[in-house]
Amino acid sequence: MVISTRGGSETPIEQAILRGLASDSGLYVPKQFPRYDHNEMRKINSLPDFALHLLKPYFSGSSIPLTLSICEQIFNFPMPLLKLPSGQYILELFHGPTLSFKDFGARFFGHCLEQLALEKPVMVVVATSGDTGSAVAAALHQRKNVMGFILFPEGKISARQQHQITCWQKNIYAVAVKGNFDDCQSMTKSIIAEGFKGVQVTTANSINIARLLPQQLFYAYSSTHLAKQYNSKVDFIVPSGNLGNVVACYWAQEAGFPIGNIYIANNANDVLSNYLKTAIYQPQPSKATLANAMDVGNPSNLERLINLLGDFETFKQVVNAESVSDKQIEEAIVMAYQKDNYILCPHTATAYHRLQSLNTSNPLVMIATAHPAKFNTIVESLIDATIETPISLQTMLEMPVQNQIIEPTTAHLRQFINQVL
Ligand SMILES: *Cc1c(COP(=O)(O)O)cnc(C)c1O
Repeated sequence: MVISTRGGSETPIEQAILRGLASDSGLYVPKQFPRYDHNEMRKINSLPDFALHLLKPYFSGSSIPLTLSICEQIFNFPMPLLKLPSGQYILELFHGPTLSFKDFGARFFGHCLEQLALEKPVMVVVATSGDTGSAVAAALHQRKNVMGFILFPEGKISARQQHQITCWQKNIYAVAVKGNFDDCQSMTKSIIAEGFKGVQVTTANSINIARLLPQQLFYAYSSTHLAKQYNSKVDFIVPSGNLGNVVACYWAQEAGFPIGNIYIANNANDVLSNYLKTAIYQPQPSKATLANAMDVGNPSNLERLINLLGDFETFKQVVNAESVSDKQIEEAIVMAYQKDNYILCPHTATAYHRLQSLNTSNPLVMIATAHPAKFNTIVESLIDATIETPISLQTMLEMPVQNQIIEPTTAHLRQFINQVL
């Protein structure tokens, strides 16, 4: 069972996934966090098996089946934890089909939705500032009774990101919006609030709880295994934009996994660090940066974080966020290449920058959110080297593309959807 951040009654998880946003416009959160048998969890080395044990309690009594073989199909790619020459850890979450951490949540969401669409067709509308769109498109492609509308800000994402959104066809529609990410996000929200006749409308943004729950896997799995080795809690640095990934980290901590300090790395979109400084939350229009999947001026998941942590004083003690400029991102990419012989994507570079000024006795894990090959035009010139293109990306880049361009209003979006329905 889940509840809305704005109160109200318990909701079955199936409904929460189909609605995306609660009817009071709040976000769904777990009513309570499961208690795990840590001695048992520690013994599980297989990632799909660990995922099964982690996720099962949230779906007990629901109509969404969860078995080891289902988890093996969803989480069918590796999640390497590397130790860099400088002694810190980096958790590579970019070995899924579209090369970002979002594949984990999107693929799990795709599984849930296919089950739920057995009764009524489901239309997914999702706004993306880069990687959500491709991960969701790949995860929903050719799923029965499911349609995906992927909105992205025209000209504001990398060529490769755009290719990965626009190459699907069939049940996936790519929509280029003449605006920024926040326009895409607000259009998505209004379409979902208004609905469509005969179809269930939902979102695959990190508003959707089905995407967030599996992301706990990153933190639960790696902290459990490292904590055993070091006999201490494990700290994480999380490159963040809409704050979905880091909320999953706090949830895993709340569920009792050995997670110590959580450090948030933002790009030049600094609403969170400003909030911490001033106690006044002031959403802003998003600014375009090199780490474009983090270009968010009004992070949706802040509401979940506040809901979990309570009043501002507590929030301030537990949340540690810093904004990283484009110049610092570039410097971090160069430094990691020289010092650690490691190629960062611009998002992961924000974590690497933060790492340089942190002093902690716990083992520290940087979250690597995307493969640098997705951002080759930024990274290659900085390090003066060529990044090998992974086969999955190469295959996508060879597929033909198609997209619709629309004005940034809900009415235009509705018109387009009506055309294709
Ligand atoms: C989405 C994304 C982020 C930000 O994650 P949030 O959950 O929105 O905070 C960071 N890096 C990459 C590569 C992403 O795709």
